[in-house]
Amino acid sequence: MSDTPHLTFDLDELGISKGHLVIPKGADCEALSLPVFSLNKGKGPRLLITGGCHGNELEGPIVARRLVDWLPEAQTCGRVIIVPVLNPPAVQAWSRNTPVDGLNLNRSFPGRADGSVTERIADAVSRLLLPTTDTVFDLHSFGPMWDFPPASTTHPIADADLMAKTVRMAEAFKFPMTLVWEYHDTPGMFDILVQNQGKVFICAELGGGTIGSEALSIYEAGVRNALIALGLVEGEAEYPIFRQKKSSQTLETLSSDELKSPARGIFEPRCSMLDNVRQGDLIGTLHPMDSLSADSIDIRAPRTSTVCAIRSGAHVDANQTVALLARPLKL
Ligand SMILES: [Zn+2]
Repeated sequence: MSDTPHLTFDLDELGISKGHLVIPKGADCEALSLPVFSLNKGKGPRLLITGGCHGNELEGPIVARRLVDWLPEAQTCGRVIIVPVLNPPAVQAWSRNTPVDGLNLNRSFPGRADGSVTERIADAVSRLLLPTTDTVFDLHSFGPMWDFPPASTTHPIADADLMAKTVRMAEAFKFPMTLVWEYHDTPGMFDILVQNQGKVFICAELGGGTIGSEALSIYEAGVRNALIALGLVEGEAEYPIFRQKKSSQTLETLSSDELKSPARGIFEPRCSMLDNVRQGDLIGTLHPMDSLSADSIDIRAPRTSTVCAIRSGAHVDANQTVALLARPLKL
């Protein structure tokens, strides 16, 4: 077996290829074989779709797997590479981070060939898949602890042209929310590596809560809309129906828009995602549970905003984020 990362097929082959991206064995685990699908129809956009970066976000792998079934009929040009599961040990353990080395794959890029398994996965993706693409859709989700709408997200990008292009691509999903998210914990993110190469990177956050068939249809429709916008698939884009509405809005959230829990206890949400709130409106209530003589504490909106994420009832520590507020994006 080769001890360098490699693909078991030639990406330049025309037509459908199904094979593996092989991550070499290291001191910490055996070699991994990540299933890879490629559909090469010659000239046109070059897209990479990845899921399963975080092992407890399984909407992405499901949507990616569905794409493998219908894309051969639908794709008219260009090349699409799909890796439904980037991090098999994390997905098998239903764990955000890789259980073998405890690392977060989305903080491990560009990776290291001689590193631990998460770093070796990042290295293989960076060196073998990224050079073959112009656009990346990385399919994540907010998970069961949050009430969060289907959304396409990006972080602010210093290059104004790339920023405008990225926001346009994110909006093309026509998800209920497009979100520009100011976020400071960025070293090692897949997003940053791709954007530093001048390429478009969209992080799809496929909702919160548990996985249901209705929500999955919305996610799949959103990805199809984006493929149509790229010119890879023919057809008319449609706004997926979400909570009886066909609509979409582009918002931005800053780090100062995070509402934190004032104490440790159980957080009770008092509003829903996408609610519009005014200054002083009730967002949620924190119930300290260590003593019945401690009063419950109301958490209120500091300004007029839209609620883009709210914890769906959970035990939280003091100073833990319980809601994210946002406002219309001005580019
Ligand atoms: Zn994630």
